[in-house]
Amino acid sequence: MDLFEYQGKQFFASFGIPVSAGDAVDTVEDAVAVADRIGYPVVIKAQVQVGGRGKAGGVKLANNTEEAREHASNILGLDIKGHIVKRVWIEVASDIAEEYYASFTLDRSAKKHLGMLSAEGGVEIETVAETNPDAIAKIWVDPAEGLSEEQCRAWVEAAKLNPKATEGAVDILRKLYTAYVDGDADLAEINPLILTPDDRVHALDAKVTLDDNADFRHPERDVWRGLEVRDPREELAHEKGLQYVGLDGTVGIIANGAGLAMSTCDVVNQVGGSPANFLDIGGGASAEVMANALDVINSDEKVKAIFINIFGGITRGEEVANGIVQALERVDIKAPIVIRLDGTNAEEGRSILEPHLSDRLRSQPTMLDAAREAVALAGGK
Ligand code: GDP
Ligand code: MN
Repeated sequence: MDLFEYQGKQFFASFGIPVSAGDAVDTVEDAVAVADRIGYPVVIKAQVQVGGRGKAGGVKLANNTEEAREHASNILGLDIKGHIVKRVWIEVASDIAEEYYASFTLDRSAKKHLGMLSAEGGVEIETVAETNPDAIAKIWVDPAEGLSEEQCRAWVEAAKLNPKATEGAVDILRKLYTAYVDGDADLAEINPLILTPDDRVHALDAKVTLDDNADFRHPERDVWRGLEVRDPREELAHEKGLQYVGLDGTVGIIANGAGLAMSTCDVVNQVGGSPANFLDIGGGASAEVMANALDVINSDEKVKAIFINIFGGITRGEEVANGIVQALERVDIKAPIVIRLDGTNAEEGRSILEPHLSDRLRSQPTMLDAAREAVALAGGK
């Protein structure tokens, strides 16, 4: 689960990380009341789960009641990269001397936690990684050993922060590590982590992704869970018990097996298209599962072509083909379909599909051919 900034700040604060005092509200009137109460200047911040809010006009400084009213009414309802702002967080404005970047996430291949720290904060870390990779100091922490104060200090020195920030940064980074581990997060990011003119270090933003598998250990998450915003396509897939991840492209993908579904996404990209989703229907491919999968893909307005990629294993080709044919009778499909059926009894399966083939339902023998055809039908990216 991704947290909103204000929730991430509550999460950080519960581990002793300094954040600004503030409140989250849903209306202009409440925003003005909170701003008046906490005292000017305040910062009014759009609560949407997307980066770059500042650039999009979603972060504004207000010096008095009139400005608070003006900014709150402009920000509430604002569309930031497709996310409509329904809530704003209002906090005491901070004076900034310097902006840094800090995060912990999991490095799966190293089997360690990866900490990243940079004196170039406030901008997206991907940009720093491209333009000035040496400006990011990385540390790999063995989960069994944890992060010692000495290690943390050496890391802060490697990042070349202002020496005035050293003590505060070491303290916050150790707390951030604890929050990330004990709070069962997959990502804990502070951007910017600021140094104030009076030499305090402070978290000005919070981006936190919690590990859903650890929910049972964290009853305190229930309130956040209740406010969770989910992709409507993912909501539908979840209801139908499908392993689905929504993406931004135009080729809807259905595959059996997570590995095959991922390589299907890769191949679609490789031939110049863009996947609309990841969808793994698992080992079986019954008519019901296939119809459910097609329902979810159908709900996605962006989908211009559908690529069904099935490799028969224990589930044989003819069962898969019968499932597809029956599903097509049940669901009214909006986009043309390309099927690649291979593996056990693929020939038998294809001959079952044969009489149903048309412009709207095509079959290709290989994954690459099928991907090309689906991408062409979708009109490229
Ligand atoms: P993001 O654009 O979604 O990452 O939102 P942030 O919370 O990181 O805010 C964007 C930028 O707004 C920060 O990098 C700061 O430069 C600025 N900003 C945010 N809060 C304050 C504040 O309290 N005081 C000042 N002076 N600038 C702020
Ligand atoms: Mn930020």
